[in-house]
Amino acid sequence: MATPNELTAMRRAIAISAQGLGTTSPNPPVGCVILDRDGVPVGEGYHLRKGDHHAEVNALTAAGERAEGGTAVVTLEPCNHHGRTPPCRQALIDAKVSRVLMAVMDPTSRGEGGAAVLEQAGIEVERGVLEQEALLVLGPWLHSLRTGRPHITWAYTVGADEDDGDQGVIELRRTHDLVIRRNGTIEEGVPGGHGAEVFCVPSGPLGDAPAKALGTLTGAGACSVLIEGSANEAAQLVADAVDRVIIGVPGTPASSRPTIASAAGLDLVPSGFGLVGV
Ligand SMILES: [Zn+2]
Repeated sequence: MATPNELTAMRRAIAISAQGLGTTSPNPPVGCVILDRDGVPVGEGYHLRKGDHHAEVNALTAAGERAEGGTAVVTLEPCNHHGRTPPCRQALIDAKVSRVLMAVMDPTSRGEGGAAVLEQAGIEVERGVLEQEALLVLGPWLHSLRTGRPHITWAYTVGADEDDGDQGVIELRRTHDLVIRRNGTIEEGVPGGHGAEVFCVPSGPLGDAPAKALGTLTGAGACSVLIEGSANEAAQLVADAVDRVIIGVPGTPASSRPTIASAAGLDLVPSGFGLVGV
């Protein structure tokens, strides 16, 4: 069982992992907090982009020797493979932590992942800690693994026809790998965020064949795509693959609140979608 202190640390790890949204793909956005043997936070870190250190290594570096005998709280099962960087489970073993909490298990590890190796090394492991909350950040990455295509969000504000006037949608850009603008232009949500060697931004427009369009977005290495604007042709092109619609409703002055349930408001949600949050 995770202690209240450890749950707080996991929520902190989830929150900082979101800093990697829009830049870590094809790697997952992961966060990590190190607690010392008394349960005091002594280091934290997240993964920024492929080729950079993983969250665990950044957090262990921040913690230094205070990690010994402590607990690592990490949003995804630590990796067990040698990629561009050494495996994180080894860094955790070398740092002599006594306990590791993880939220989401890594489906790419096929049961041979970091958790099993950590246990073999005598480290106490807790799986599934606040898993549903961690999926708020890791969900699109897992979705892309499962389906072989990016998680697609279509976002618009009712009545907003211009990019510049749609601040709510603009704020979503930096949490997505690719953004398809109203005119069909494709760009990184964070310009240059993935690093030039890792990621290839496809040149738009996407053409008129849905499968080919999805293949182009997947081939770029994107785990998440944002389609901007209610009249964006890309939204019609890949309509069957849209996973989420975010609809902004302009603020209603207090004096006119009784009219908020106007006819225009009743068909806000496109057919085939249901409400999951308001
Ligand atoms: Zn790792």
